[in-house]
Amino acid sequence: MYIVQIASECAPVIKAGGLGDVVYGLSRELENQGHSVELILPKYDCMRYDHIWGLHDAFTNLWVPWYGGAIHCSVYCGWVHGRLCFFIEPHSGDNFFNRGCYYGSNDDNMRFAFFSKAALEFLLQSNKRPDVIHCHDWQTGLVPVMLYEMYKYYGMEYQRVCYTIHNFKHQGFAGVDTLWATGLNQESYYFQSDKLQDNFNPFALNFMKGGIVYSNAVTTVSPHHAWEARYTDIGYGLGHTLHLHQDRFTGVLNGIDHDFWNPETDRYIPSHYTKDNFEEKAKNKKALRERLLLQDVEKPIISYIGRLDDQKGVHLVHHAMYYALHNGAQFVLLGSATESSINNHFRHEKDFLNNNPDVHLELGFNEELSHLIYAGADMIIVPSNYEPCGLTQMIGLKYGTVPIVRGVGGLVNTVFDKDYDQTKPPEERNGYVFYQSDYHALEFSLERPLKLWYNNPEEFRKLALAGMEYDYSWNHPGEEYVKIYDRIRHKW
Ligand code: ADP
Repeated sequence: MYIVQIASECAPVIKAGGLGDVVYGLSRELENQGHSVELILPKYDCMRYDHIWGLHDAFTNLWVPWYGGAIHCSVYCGWVHGRLCFFIEPHSGDNFFNRGCYYGSNDDNMRFAFFSKAALEFLLQSNKRPDVIHCHDWQTGLVPVMLYEMYKYYGMEYQRVCYTIHNFKHQGFAGVDTLWATGLNQESYYFQSDKLQDNFNPFALNFMKGGIVYSNAVTTVSPHHAWEARYTDIGYGLGHTLHLHQDRFTGVLNGIDHDFWNPETDRYIPSHYTKDNFEEKAKNKKALRERLLLQDVEKPIISYIGRLDDQKGVHLVHHAMYYALHNGAQFVLLGSATESSINNHFRHEKDFLNNNPDVHLELGFNEELSHLIYAGADMIIVPSNYEPCGLTQMIGLKYGTVPIVRGVGGLVNTVFDKDYDQTKPPEERNGYVFYQSDYHALEFSLERPLKLWYNNPEEFRKLALAGMEYDYSWNHPGEEYVKIYDRIRHKW
């Protein structure tokens, strides 16, 4: 099969979070299974060019219709760790992708509406006719809309779309100007509840809703989150739309790329290990302490890696840090906040705890350091308010770092409580789960592993090894996606 992924991220060249990991990991797995995969991405000024091999002009004369005229674009081509990627660079005063950051501009909706349009134009003009176009999140929600309403008539009638939602919170809202810009026009046609009109704001278009309504298959990133999105507020107002399109909607658990996340081969850690020489993990713990200037004492390290925002349960992260410090553990945090109040809060904590030899807060994005933390820490916490899939607990498991998670979304599908899980036999349980989003529930789930670490280290080791047994690679999810692609491409 010939598959084209259209996305706003692809790790490690463009990565703001899990979306980048998924786009890369899934593409690689599909290629391993014998399919032909290409990626279309924006050419941001701030992406990691050091991860692109052989970047060169591939299509210099792409004109993308925009409002009444057209914007001239260049398309570059290069390999990102073996994946063939096309990067679109528009030449216009809007500087759509030269902002020094991936997201966060006031005109994000226009930037990615343009990207969606340009990606389709590129496919059209370069005569690429994939069997399946796989789009991701709100940024590409307009791709299936424009394909079905416009490009189908220009010669792309056989292309089918799989649309994956990684986070329902960000849906992409826009006004009527997007319709004029993209050439969709027909305001009264699209501002309908069965088309793009937002379910709550009748004056807004909703890109993600468009993705759901117009795609041949819609997925989210774990089975439990698929249920939450339909039946709880976690669908952020799209539950009813998902309900109407339920026959096309499923949850497919994300995987992690074992080439990149593997303690046996990880190029960013000093000591490689497997289940059979697990004691080598201790050398990474030592290296982590040296790197972060933590004291080398007989204590477990609890870690947190992730964005610092409401979704991730920052108040619980903060509480876990002090709980760890008062209960014989060290704490390491690697996180970045886009909201200034949260950023200021953690900066203040960092200053306040500066001389404490048991804690380190690293504020910012640091891929290399994240690997050392996964390998060096004993436990990782994921206390999210909601978590569509969550990758950090799966990476933690692979590195024998015991996850302590809140029982929401994909965390429910991947972590099984050592003491209370009803679905797995004791030897297959792999972490700790709490459900309420309060301090007592969190403390209860921190107290149990800490006691186990101190009082029964052999049992703690077995728990970590049980986690390493889990195969959360892309093998299985890759097959699931191929089944979905197969199903939609045979439907005309
Ligand atoms: P998200 O909601 O951000 O997509 P996920 O758990 O799905 O959360 O994926 C997070 C990914 O981003 C993981 O690969 C994690 O290691 C990485 N990550 C998150 N924050 C940071 C950071 N500050 N520095 C380095 N890597 C990070």
